[in-house]
Amino acid sequence: MKVLSTVVIVASIASLIAIAAPAGAAAPESKSQITILYDAFGTNPSMTKDWGFSALVEVAGKRVLFDTGNDANIFAANVNAKGVDLKTLDFVVLSHRHSDHMAGLNYVLSVNPTVKIYAPKEGFGIYGSSLPSSFYRKDEALPPEMRYYGGTPPQVMKFGAAWGGANFELIDKTTEIAPGMTLIALVSDAVGTKELKELSLAINTPDGVVLVVGCSHPGIEKIVEAAAAINPKIHLIAGGFHLVVAPDDVIAKAVVALKDTFKVESVAPGHCTGEPTFAALKKAFGDRYLYAGLGTTLPLGSNAGSDMRRGEGPALHKDDLATYRRLARREDPFGILPAQHLRTRASQL
Ligand SMILES: [Zn+2]
Ligand SMILES: [Zn+2]
Repeated sequence: MKVLSTVVIVASIASLIAIAAPAGAAAPESKSQITILYDAFGTNPSMTKDWGFSALVEVAGKRVLFDTGNDANIFAANVNAKGVDLKTLDFVVLSHRHSDHMAGLNYVLSVNPTVKIYAPKEGFGIYGSSLPSSFYRKDEALPPEMRYYGGTPPQVMKFGAAWGGANFELIDKTTEIAPGMTLIALVSDAVGTKELKELSLAINTPDGVVLVVGCSHPGIEKIVEAAAAINPKIHLIAGGFHLVVAPDDVIAKAVVALKDTFKVESVAPGHCTGEPTFAALKKAFGDRYLYAGLGTTLPLGSNAGSDMRRGEGPALHKDDLATYRRLARREDPFGILPAQHLRTRASQL
């Protein structure tokens, strides 16, 4: 017993040190959580379900709005229902140029017109862009009135954003934008979204990487692979995995990759992950599947609360847990009742 308690104390001290000084990781702070502000499923009666995604990510002392939903009015109502103050955001991330992730930006700008907005850098994209004027072929023999800029173009040609005056910073390649916070920039190769660039947010916490994905058009496995290059320990993935129309074999392959190849600790899928994928992930991850419907707050890592015991259940707030259980009792959407029954039987053995 004495040996056991010594081991426990040593382990506790070691984890405290890990929390206090994680090598290359984001600094710990008081509030670490992800709040889902926009999605098409959920149980919060004061919020409106709609297709799209937005989440408030509070971690490492930063408040980050990741995507802005599909409709500015619904986004505004959901933000206000959750009492989220957009004036004190550190920055906004727009994952990609699809409207179900961007349409609330006008509302964000009406509240906070100067907020820094990270978005993917794309040629002639909606977020604006620029090119050296050397990109186009010249014909010196033409009269000036037939030549672009009368034959004397600016060195750099700037192309406007759909939101004039907004404080965009365009991300071309994977970039650490704050200590421990990295925007992973990847390009989709899928039919229908070829060349679409997407940003995912990887936060290196003392518990491993917390990865927030918008729509995962470049492929969830490719994004996780890039996150694992920052830190192979993937603590949590939240957001859209883009398997909403994928056939069962593709879903199964992705689930195996997340669980067995990348050994992802927990998943909190939403948005375009897809109903059959919710079911497959729930089956594979069990208690490590965190329900992330509209309005849910997911506590993160070492801040998850002293009353939370790791490895024994999903990291949910008490009210979220109650909602989750009520939902499960009513519909059992993830088949968790048979799983619970099996666990109960196993613990009785
Ligand atoms: Zn999309
Ligand atoms: Zn989407």
